[in-house]
Amino acid sequence: MSNGDTFDVVVLGGGSGGYATALRAAQLNLSVALIEKDKLGGTCLHRGCIPTKALLHAGEVADQTRESEQFGIKAELVGVDMAGVNAYMDSVVARLYKGLQGLVSSAKITYAAGEGRLVAPNTVEVNGERYVGRNVVLATGSYSKTLPGLDLDGERVISSEDALTLDRVPTSVIVLGGGVIGVEFASAWRSFGADVTIVEALPRLVAGEDEECSKAVERAFRKRGIAFKVNSPFEKVERTDSGVRVTIAGGETIEAELLLVAVGRGPVTANIGYEQQGLTMDRGFVPTDERLRTNLPNVYAVGDIVPGLQLAHRGFQQGIFVAEEIAGLNPRVIDEDGIPRVTYCDPEVASMGLTEAKAREQYGADTVKTYSYNLGGNGKSQILRTAGFVKLVSVVDGPVVGVHMVGARVGELVGEAQLIYNWEAYPAEVAQLVHAHPTQTEALGEAHLALAGKPLHAHA
Ligand SMILES: Cc1cc2nc3c(=O)[nH]c(=O)nc-3n(C[C@H](O)[C@H](O)[C@H](O)COP(=O)(O)OP(=O)(O)OC[C@H]3O[C@@H](n4cnc5c(N)ncnc54)[C@H](O)[C@@H]3O)c2cc1C
Repeated sequence: MSNGDTFDVVVLGGGSGGYATALRAAQLNLSVALIEKDKLGGTCLHRGCIPTKALLHAGEVADQTRESEQFGIKAELVGVDMAGVNAYMDSVVARLYKGLQGLVSSAKITYAAGEGRLVAPNTVEVNGERYVGRNVVLATGSYSKTLPGLDLDGERVISSEDALTLDRVPTSVIVLGGGVIGVEFASAWRSFGADVTIVEALPRLVAGEDEECSKAVERAFRKRGIAFKVNSPFEKVERTDSGVRVTIAGGETIEAELLLVAVGRGPVTANIGYEQQGLTMDRGFVPTDERLRTNLPNVYAVGDIVPGLQLAHRGFQQGIFVAEEIAGLNPRVIDEDGIPRVTYCDPEVASMGLTEAKAREQYGADTVKTYSYNLGGNGKSQILRTAGFVKLVSVVDGPVVGVHMVGARVGELVGEAQLIYNWEAYPAEVAQLVHAHPTQTEALGEAHLALAGKPLHAHA
């Protein structure tokens, strides 16, 4: 209950961005109200990052069982018990959910369960109760978008939310969209034995990544038997007796049991009072300045409603930033290129900073050099039997401005890559650091050695 008090911070939405704001603000002794209509933790915990990564891990276990013989282990994949996979996935979510609820309840945060509405720039109303804030932080997140004329029915034409509650492994699936969410589901379903076809309008899969990463993923997907069609805008879908028939531009049709629509996420900003209070919106998103201020005084926005990368850790960092800003700590502005990006398909893609193309645009073609270290020379990657590379993009006589990696487990290497990028390290500086042998981190070390002109396990 608000009891008519004024809070230092009122946060609307309890997902990654909102709860991070609330926790950091409470830590800084600000009084905080956090309003959530569904479950604390939002998309990431309940319908996004966590369940999908559990699903992909179960897929990895299936693949490893299938391929165990190449390691001299005799095992047979008898089947995939989706109820068992779902129970595992749910148990991971449930445990983290409980932990998060504990954190929020012990942090002296006033938690209000219910749908909030901005009724004045400094006031959110929930269940007839008004929460007034000296500052308001909007963090209402995002939803699965679809295309005009493409209706989701939750059964044959499904969203990522529906895909996470399927009680079976589909025999065949068409995945509309070859971005992060699309390729992750394609990868997991293929691991479970489904026939998968990705349909993508752009010229390549994971099109936001460096072109070499897209090529490597496409090569690996071909090998894994994941079909994909790029440059293939969706035209229509029809229901058939056994599933769906999708027509792509040019008239080609593909049939499958299910169609997963993974064409991006739209902001949740409609009908909650934003426009009425005069908040500036851009195609539904809430633009902010670099200090995450909206056009309304003392109203901030964080997370997926702010144009840019829709990632949980961006939301966390923005939440921390806003709480510190409100507390007067003058935090450092977040560099959007300094946010790590990981796609958890098999093989994984992990990247930092600028793609080669962007770096050439930004610094000039002659001022940029690149080096790709093939995981073929990396002991641990060979032990894992994975292929891929670590590609560096650096300014000539300057810092590393991009790191792009493909291969099993490279998502875990992004921690070092982000230190390199964010500390503006020079190749020669990283080349001095010792990397443990045999680890995949050595591939990062080797790439920097090579770029610094002294390759060890690579040809000069
Ligand atoms: C399938 C999938 C996989 C993903 N995987 C990853 C990943 O591996 N890594 C990664 O970094 N990101 C991933 N993401 C993205 C990540 O989930 C989002 O970037 C993140 O959840 C955004 O946080 P947010 O706080 O902006 O919004 P959300 O998490 O969407 O939270 C917003 C919250 O606000 C609440 N809300 C909305 N309106 C109101 C209202 N009027 N009143 C009260 N409450 C309201 C909602 O109920 C929700 O809980 C994935 C997303 C999806 C869909």
